[in-house]
Amino acid sequence: MISVKQLKRVVVKLGTGVLTHGIGQLDAGRIAAICAQVAELRAKGTEVIIVSSGAVGLGMGRLGLSRKPKEVSKKQACAAVGQSLLMQTWQRGFEPHSLTVAQVLLTREDLRERDRCLSVKAVLNQLVAYGTIPIINENDTVSAAEINAMLKFGDNDTLSAMVASLVEAQHLVILSTAPGLIDMKGTGEIVPVVEKITPAIEAMAGGTTSETATGGMISKISAAKLATKSGCGVYIASGAEDKVLQRIFSGVGPGTFFVPSGLPMEAKKLWLAYFQRPAGTIAVNTRAVPVLRDEGRSLLAIGVTGSKGEFASGDVVSIAGPDGTVFARGKVAFGSDEIPAIAGKSSDQLRPLYPSRKHLEVVHRNDLVLL
Ligand code: GLU
Repeated sequence: MISVKQLKRVVVKLGTGVLTHGIGQLDAGRIAAICAQVAELRAKGTEVIIVSSGAVGLGMGRLGLSRKPKEVSKKQACAAVGQSLLMQTWQRGFEPHSLTVAQVLLTREDLRERDRCLSVKAVLNQLVAYGTIPIINENDTVSAAEINAMLKFGDNDTLSAMVASLVEAQHLVILSTAPGLIDMKGTGEIVPVVEKITPAIEAMAGGTTSETATGGMISKISAAKLATKSGCGVYIASGAEDKVLQRIFSGVGPGTFFVPSGLPMEAKKLWLAYFQRPAGTIAVNTRAVPVLRDEGRSLLAIGVTGSKGEFASGDVVSIAGPDGTVFARGKVAFGSDEIPAIAGKSSDQLRPLYPSRKHLEVVHRNDLVLL
């Protein structure tokens, strides 16, 4: 049986738009809420490393600029002013939780060479071991794309993905003002799970429009590509959502989840079933519970008593026993509209109804995870 392992380490990336409203105006309530959520994760034993944007935006606010300056030195000056405000803000936010923050400013160069990269990793590990919350940002004051493109990460989405793979985080959560990846050309809704980043997925992303933001959805998708390749699951969600981190890590989060690649089949199944929001629930009878739970067999129509919610074949659904307790999740092979006709039927009764179907399992054991 697969069980959901405790979350050991996560990287949380926050965009300028989540931490501020207007230009350079800190959103104190939002920051307090995020600090409380991070503190809760830490208290449960999950190590958290934050990648925080906001230096340039806060600097602009403090210097009274309403547009991002074009001149490199002015942008660098904004970052220098804003970075210290940013760290003060984070420390103030974590103070009620008795947590100490640690500022880590990186340039791309720091992660390019193996030795330097390992020393960054070592210091991050040490900071976490000391019980602090590392707050990472790009060292914008000394790294400008205009001076040396090789020095610059370009955006914090990329930086966060590189950090997540460096510190071997299980999750990278990218919180911004975007609620997730929206399928603009199709359903117009948030794509809940991306199993593989295909050109079609990349085409769904549009650029950024705000004055202080940098990356937009395009850079988030490419960050997700990078992080998932190193086995890290990536979430893109809105930082404005209530209790967003807790909801994400209990598998009911809003936003888009990108499944890590290159995992063994069992682990992949777990990620899929656990982090995909179930589209509905299938109710099973008393006899089916031990068959699924203890005997590791597939769910057959004969064990099904009914369903709740609307789902299509291929969706992830919850599986509940007669008392309503959800004990498994899996990819269902029939749509909710077909359930009434198949519930309680034996395979012999079912076959004539679906003469062309090779498989008649409602949820195949390979697609099933016990909770
Ligand atoms: N490092 C920039 C800042 O602190 C943000 C870059 C980004 O958001 O991608 O303002």
